[in-house]
Amino acid sequence: MSTETEEEEDVEIIVIGFDDDGNEIEEDEEEHFVKDVDGVVDMTFQDKDFRRISYDNNDRFAIYKLMAYFHEDVVRGGRVFCAGAGALGNEVLKNLALLGIGEVWFADFDAIDVSNLAKSVLFRPRDIGRQKVEVAAERLADMSPETKWVPIQGDIRYDVGLGVFRRMDVMMSVVDSIDARVGVNRICAALGKPWLDAGIGELSWRVSCWDSAGGPCFECIMDTAMRQQQHLPYAPTCAPLAEAIRDMNRQPTSPLAAAMSGAMMAQEALKLLHQAKMETPPKELEMPNGLQYYFGGGSPYLEVQTRNQLEGCPGHEFWGEVHEETSFTAEGTTLRQLLVKGAELLGVAEQKVAVPLGFDFIYELYCHQCKTRTERYTPRRVRTLDLSCPHCENDEARPEYKRALRIFEKFADKTLAELGFPKLHIFQVHGGGNTIAIELTGDVEEVMGG
Ligand SMILES: [Zn+2]
Ligand SMILES: [Zn+2]
Repeated sequence: MSTETEEEEDVEIIVIGFDDDGNEIEEDEEEHFVKDVDGVVDMTFQDKDFRRISYDNNDRFAIYKLMAYFHEDVVRGGRVFCAGAGALGNEVLKNLALLGIGEVWFADFDAIDVSNLAKSVLFRPRDIGRQKVEVAAERLADMSPETKWVPIQGDIRYDVGLGVFRRMDVMMSVVDSIDARVGVNRICAALGKPWLDAGIGELSWRVSCWDSAGGPCFECIMDTAMRQQQHLPYAPTCAPLAEAIRDMNRQPTSPLAAAMSGAMMAQEALKLLHQAKMETPPKELEMPNGLQYYFGGGSPYLEVQTRNQLEGCPGHEFWGEVHEETSFTAEGTTLRQLLVKGAELLGVAEQKVAVPLGFDFIYELYCHQCKTRTERYTPRRVRTLDLSCPHCENDEARPEYKRALRIFEKFADKTLAELGFPKLHIFQVHGGGNTIAIELTGDVEEVMGG
């Protein structure tokens, strides 16, 4: 690192002047400014026609008028999703509140326990036992009442319609499981969106931006150990195994690493937001895809690492343009109607289309004790999987499941909501060698609101 004094001599002082109507004063009018020997403009005794900014002390967002890159209208109109509200999520969300982002959606399925209190700026001892998202929403609304806060208690892979993510300007994930990160990676690849990812340790942290469209994605950098860990944190059916996994997940992370990476992540989110909403965003706001910031805190170093795309990586499947079906809703549309629509759009017979799910979809439980079958619609890898037979004491009935849904399923006339799919979801329909993505756009007003 070069010393500060060396750099100072090269620093160009940029002066932005505004006239009384708030218009930026052109550079060639700079003779109106009087510079001192250091090139600094003394704003105190200027022509009365010019002043630097109209700074309103009662305006919380007036700070944006002093910033060269971040624009208040972009920030106030931005829509951001943050998966996870743990230690790092707390830091990211806190920063988004300070910045006054327009709309912030965030999801987590955990309740607050004692161990969270040492790391989470939004949680207090009296909150123990309450849901993280519920408490966070209260505190965040207090910090930034101008922001629309949308807390989601659940798993983003099964409980949030893909149409929600499609309408986000920025996607962020601060989850701690590899499986959930892979889930976010697949969602963002399908929708063609970049996303921010972070990980923290005791002294170190890293922040990455992945964009599977033409660059490396999270799955490109997964090693064998990560792949083995991927499936661990979900649905352990035996208690000792569940206990062991919980212990394994309690990695040593500090509130300090969370604060540093949370700030870095919020800054990168602001950059992505400007890229998403501006036609020509300032070039300073670029974060080239495939680079990740790594801070090693032990013998301190901060570096930018370059990652490469892995050939044959499964994390790059883009779904293409989404067909918005405004007459379809989760509660009003059946699986059959979805498949018929898909067949129509693809120009193939109804028997030829299928909806691949990317997860094991349980539709029935078979109880070997009382020899009964029971309808049960749920993804297999949810956190608390209920396999109990409703007819006897057996709590481990055998689940029957499918990886894709077709028109001849015996549950084809159930609504998509009855089958457990969320509102405003997007389904990929395959048939005749082609695919189409169909959105339940009839849900949009209810889900996204005004
Ligand atoms: Zn990849
Ligand atoms: Zn039974």
